[in-house]
Amino acid sequence: MTVIVAGAGIAGLTLGLTLHQIGVPFRIFETTPTLRPLGVGVNLQPNAVRELFDLGLQAELDRVGIRTRDYGFYTRTGLEIWTEPRGLDAGYRWPQFSVHRGRFQLALYEALVDRAGPDCVVTGARATGFTNLDGAAALQIETASGPRSVQSAVVIAADGIHSAVRRQMRPAEGPPIWGGAILWRATTEAAPFKTGASMILAGHDRQRVVAYPITGPDSATGKATINWIAERTVDPSQGWRKEDWNRAADLADFLPAFEDWRFDWLDVPALIRGAQKVYEYPMVDRDPIDRWTDGRVTLMGDAAHPTYPVGSNGASQAVVDARVIGAQFLEHGVGPDALQAYEAIVRPQTEKVTLANRGSGPDAIMQLVEDRCGGVFERIEDVVPHRELAARAEKYKQIAGFSIEALNARPRLIPDGARVA
Ligand SMILES: Cc1cc2nc3c(=O)[nH]c(=O)nc-3n(C[C@H](O)[C@H](O)[C@H](O)COP(=O)(O)OP(=O)(O)OC[C@H]3O[C@@H](n4cnc5c(N)ncnc54)[C@H](O)[C@@H]3O)c2cc1C
Repeated sequence: MTVIVAGAGIAGLTLGLTLHQIGVPFRIFETTPTLRPLGVGVNLQPNAVRELFDLGLQAELDRVGIRTRDYGFYTRTGLEIWTEPRGLDAGYRWPQFSVHRGRFQLALYEALVDRAGPDCVVTGARATGFTNLDGAAALQIETASGPRSVQSAVVIAADGIHSAVRRQMRPAEGPPIWGGAILWRATTEAAPFKTGASMILAGHDRQRVVAYPITGPDSATGKATINWIAERTVDPSQGWRKEDWNRAADLADFLPAFEDWRFDWLDVPALIRGAQKVYEYPMVDRDPIDRWTDGRVTLMGDAAHPTYPVGSNGASQAVVDARVIGAQFLEHGVGPDALQAYEAIVRPQTEKVTLANRGSGPDAIMQLVEDRCGGVFERIEDVVPHRELAARAEKYKQIAGFSIEALNARPRLIPDGARVA
């Protein structure tokens, strides 16, 4: 029986590719009438890249992004606190990628349609709710021709942070939670900095900038597409602005606060000024919940575990969810037992990530340095010993499931050639 998926984002499309790989019929219902390359940059950690390579998507990743070489934390004046190699340079057997979210989503979509045919994704179909039936599940959808219900063995909700399926499971939950941070996000064509494939975070909890290239340098201009996020924290009681990934922003709201952030290796105000279009987004998440699965219906991706984007882990976890669901279908068959097994593996881990990202994520080191010395030092070793910096970096990788040794040693989630009986 067919698997029904709500949402053709990164989670839903990777699940579609996985189901096709293991021989499970499926159909994805996506609310937008046409998939467009929306969003700016996201990171794919080696644990997710491994799964995408197993799906045969290596060439697509190299086409829509670049292999990230290192990741570093800096003070608001650009002093280096900690830099670590990433991906292959760190000893993983798989690279880390920085990609344009929308181009990556479209690459997944094109690969899926190429492999499974054009009918596997139905656009313009909004999921509105679900029903558990005897031996089946139904997803209610709204289309231009009116409401209808589609039946399947299981329903998987990959419909993002505003999931309609989650709302039915948790009617009292309300909107996502905003802690007071506002993100301004954009891309700018600019000269690459550091290694040319570096991801950097500079500042502290109240104000910071994140920047990384999502392309290599253009052969004619030498410029790369640099993804950046400027972030400031305000008093959350100043008011709630409904989050929308596509809300256009006004530079005057935040550029003055970054005007003197000119490092000898990156001119932050110039980067901000160079953007064609800047998007504003309040940093939101949701409290972890104690159950994702209701009978033959479960949640995945941001519908299950929306988290602050501080550990660069949201898109990666969406990919991993899809692969764990596929692995559990292989183990238990396509039914509620597989959904329970998936939830038992993924939910406890993502709960830790969501909570860590609220205050003790990998970036907490920047505030620690600000607290200890106001971000001013001669030698970072005098402020935070190297072993403490290394221990913090390793701890987050373990929580998020991309510890180098563990990932390199673990067998494939989906063995080559495996098919559901
Ligand atoms: C337009 C957009 C832009 C984004 N830009 C960024 C970014 O720049 N940086 C970043 O870090 N993260 C961004 N994200 C979030 C990021 O993609 C996710 O955090 C992560 O990839 C997890 O993916 P997901 O598939 O679970 O959720 P999402 O990527 O949010 O995908 C959910 C999908 O479900 C669809 N959908 C929603 N409601 C319904 C419904 N009721 N019925 C059917 N389909 C539905 C949505 O249209 C979307 O295609 C963006 C998300 C969106 C939707």
